[in-house]
Amino acid sequence: MTTLTMREAHAFEAAGQQFLYLVPSAAVFALDECSSAVLDQVRAGARDADAVVTGLSPRFDASEVTSTIAELRRVRAIADTAVAVPMPKIMPLKPVPLQTLVLNVTNQCNLACTYCYEYGEDKIVDTENGKQPKFMSEETARDSVDFMLRESRDNPTAHMTFFGGETLLNFPVLKSTMEYARRRAAELGKQVDFSLTTNATLLRPEVIEFLAENRVGVTISIDGPEDIQDKFRVFKNGMGSYDVAAPKIKALLSRHRSRPIGARVTLTRQTLDITRIYRHLADDLGFWEVGFAPVTTASKRDYAISDSGFDHLLAQFRALAQEYKQAALENRHHGFSNVRETLQELHQGHAKAYPCGAGLGLMGVATDGDVALCHRFAGSDTHKIGDVRGGVSWETQQAFLTSHHINEKIDCQTCWARPICAGGCYHEANTRYGSTQQPNLHYCEWIRGWTHTCLEIYGELAMKNPEFLHQFDDDPVEKVS
Ligand code: SF4
Ligand code: SF4
Repeated sequence: MTTLTMREAHAFEAAGQQFLYLVPSAAVFALDECSSAVLDQVRAGARDADAVVTGLSPRFDASEVTSTIAELRRVRAIADTAVAVPMPKIMPLKPVPLQTLVLNVTNQCNLACTYCYEYGEDKIVDTENGKQPKFMSEETARDSVDFMLRESRDNPTAHMTFFGGETLLNFPVLKSTMEYARRRAAELGKQVDFSLTTNATLLRPEVIEFLAENRVGVTISIDGPEDIQDKFRVFKNGMGSYDVAAPKIKALLSRHRSRPIGARVTLTRQTLDITRIYRHLADDLGFWEVGFAPVTTASKRDYAISDSGFDHLLAQFRALAQEYKQAALENRHHGFSNVRETLQELHQGHAKAYPCGAGLGLMGVATDGDVALCHRFAGSDTHKIGDVRGGVSWETQQAFLTSHHINEKIDCQTCWARPICAGGCYHEANTRYGSTQQPNLHYCEWIRGWTHTCLEIYGELAMKNPEFLHQFDDDPVEKVS
């Protein structure tokens, strides 16, 4: 006799329908009446299949219950206790093609944002007195292009993102690198997609023209309306940056229409007014999308978000997410990109072994050509995994992937949100706990609460407007934030 038992799953309800989020497979499963009844029986105590059939005989045919049990076994919602096994540690067996290369074209910035991970109190690279050049040379940028095209292997498209410091402080190298990358890619029968992140204060007319002409994807780092932006995003003399950035952003948005332009907001304890920030950036300034990320910092900083701050944040995220859902039900655009990104991940249904592509399909290059896990580690000797001339060895990558696999994060093994979170950002973990291998346990409640909300939205859309979800069929390009 084999007794049936529940496997790991998170139950939720949407549009009057019961669902299960199946943790081993990261699949969303809609429960019909018979499936719900079978699961209730199994939850009530371990029973064998015959006992479940008998228990449900007043309500359902034996054949229906039997086939439902078979289906629930197949999707791994239930299992025979005798065959329950731990999650296998699945690792890439051969080098993964590089999807996105982030070039830190400078580590200098014309702003002095108090919370900046590159200049603030929690920095891991000394950008003022360290050995790194302040600007990437044209030669290093070209070597980076060659590295990217080589490492993208058979992929027809490579993604190059320019980052800083303030990226536009090295605009000449950015321009010449794009020309070179296009030419080299064409010779190899490939394409390169370009994007950059900027604080907008150096968006001169000729820069805007260049970005528009070349269809460069642009993300603007901005925190909201003037009073919020100027709390932390200040020039070195302490002057707020809103008055300089806002007119330039408007000029960019009116000229550069070939690609949607997004805003990226850093949230701190003092700036958690999500709705007001969103309204200003989406409605007043006209950004297509607005994405929010809690500041990365040690817990002792006065701008670090506290536990109650995360509760407040979740409540505000949920309110704005309802707006997104309503718009989606009516096939209208809504620019709250945090929902879109999580829906996309749920729809793709990958149970993540790693939180992001860092060190895998995404790498960051420092101004001297050293390659790191991602742009946030670029220039840190501790997190160097190679350089653009000598490349990155597969052994080094494998060692990183082995030690950072979700199965190594003991605290995450019983968490239903791990297919989406996988322990969270390595840079955040390094800043908080001093190691990239640690899970980010300070934001678990927030992650689970937010994932639950997005599951409810996903379920409701699946019931009422499933066509909307088809936009998420393709795998996303790794996000750079
Ligand atoms: S860090 Fe927390 S929320 Fe994320 S997978 Fe681990 S336990 Fe779950
Ligand atoms: S999530 Fe963190 S570790 Fe991953 S790419 Fe982004 S900043 Fe880097």
